[in-house]
Amino acid sequence: MSGSNFADVFCPLPWNHASVRTNGQMLACCLVYEPLQKGKDGSGQDYNAGTDTVASARNAPVLRDIRAAMLRGEKPTACNRCWDTERVGALSARQINAEKYPGLMERARQLTRADGTIVHSEFPLQYYDLRLGNLCNLACKMCSPHFSSTWARYAPDPDTRANYTWYVDSPYWRELLDSVGASGAVKQLMITGGEPLMSKHHWELIDQCVAGGRASEISIYYNTNMTVTLTDQMIEKWSKFQQIWVGCSVDGYAHVNEYIRHPAQWRVVERNLDRLDSCEHPNIVGNLSPTISVFNVLYIPEMVRWQVGRKFKKLGVHPGNWILEYPEPMSIQVLPKPVKLAIAKKYEELFAWARETQEASVAKSIHDTYEPVLKWMNAAERQSLLPDLMKTIADLDRKQQTDFRKSLPELWALIEAAEPATSALALR
Ligand code: SF4
Repeated sequence: MSGSNFADVFCPLPWNHASVRTNGQMLACCLVYEPLQKGKDGSGQDYNAGTDTVASARNAPVLRDIRAAMLRGEKPTACNRCWDTERVGALSARQINAEKYPGLMERARQLTRADGTIVHSEFPLQYYDLRLGNLCNLACKMCSPHFSSTWARYAPDPDTRANYTWYVDSPYWRELLDSVGASGAVKQLMITGGEPLMSKHHWELIDQCVAGGRASEISIYYNTNMTVTLTDQMIEKWSKFQQIWVGCSVDGYAHVNEYIRHPAQWRVVERNLDRLDSCEHPNIVGNLSPTISVFNVLYIPEMVRWQVGRKFKKLGVHPGNWILEYPEPMSIQVLPKPVKLAIAKKYEELFAWARETQEASVAKSIHDTYEPVLKWMNAAERQSLLPDLMKTIADLDRKQQTDFRKSLPELWALIEAAEPATSALALR
């Protein structure tokens, strides 16, 4: 089977990857919103890792359709987030993973049926994306009970059938433990949450990788909020792996991070960043991986200057930020035009500062990491959602005992100047 532009649209993940949400729903990948469903037309009951095997879901209709479209050289709409990312010049998950599995494309072309069906044993799972429930010690402003158990204090969980302990005694979990063991094919794990470092099952998985003797062939990517103390014992376990990449979900310098990632304490975050950066094992690396939202987009240049000034050895500026899309009112596209202009000016000043004061490679990295943020911000005008944003801020400030105006005064002043009537909705 061939597609004229297969190489241009190929992504390895529909062939070698399994992804699970915090509630056990299975996905084609974390960027495809529709869960894998059992009905022939993609409708019906969801596959759930609490009850279904990973093998049973390999040919779910969503996955088959994505593969079939790619084989035809078409861009499947389910993968729009990758196409949108590539359109603004940022590196997509598709592009990153295509580089990691160069041999897979030809096998996919030869062994996949025209309707996208594959044989499970011919495409062993090499990459798992795992969200081990919603256990988390923080309630970040843009989060929800789906990802954070602490959020349940502020809002009831609408997902009443959620299975946030899907990994307990489940066939999926047993298959996973086999896959990372001696005879398994796994090369890559992405572990987020919730807060993965709080999960006992996560450490069981790590121990299984080590016990099976394959840790040195496996790379792990984490997203962690950096509030869990990194101990010598954790670092010792990580030292056995091919690579540990710690994506530090740090959204701004000091007060900015504390406001967004409530109730994180900056001194704890900074201590853990220092521990990670000073770790002696070369296989353990990472970056600051902020989620770019209305709250921090103005303050990212300040964080980058701090980051560069700290002269971190491992935690340099690398692409890896996430541009928030949901909740929609918190998207940076919602900000009023004058605020966007002020933000753009700050980034241009940051890029000029980097060019003048830093090595060319550092200046380029800063530019290439954050220039797509400006493009994204300006790609759409969604100011109609500003009242929703302001009301949400008032609600969250009241529940969390935080104060948007005091914590982010520069942003508040810009919004108030641009939209005085709407901004007043943020008053709690
Ligand atoms: S193209 Fe993007 S959205 Fe689609 S499966 Fe690959 S990584 Fe996921």
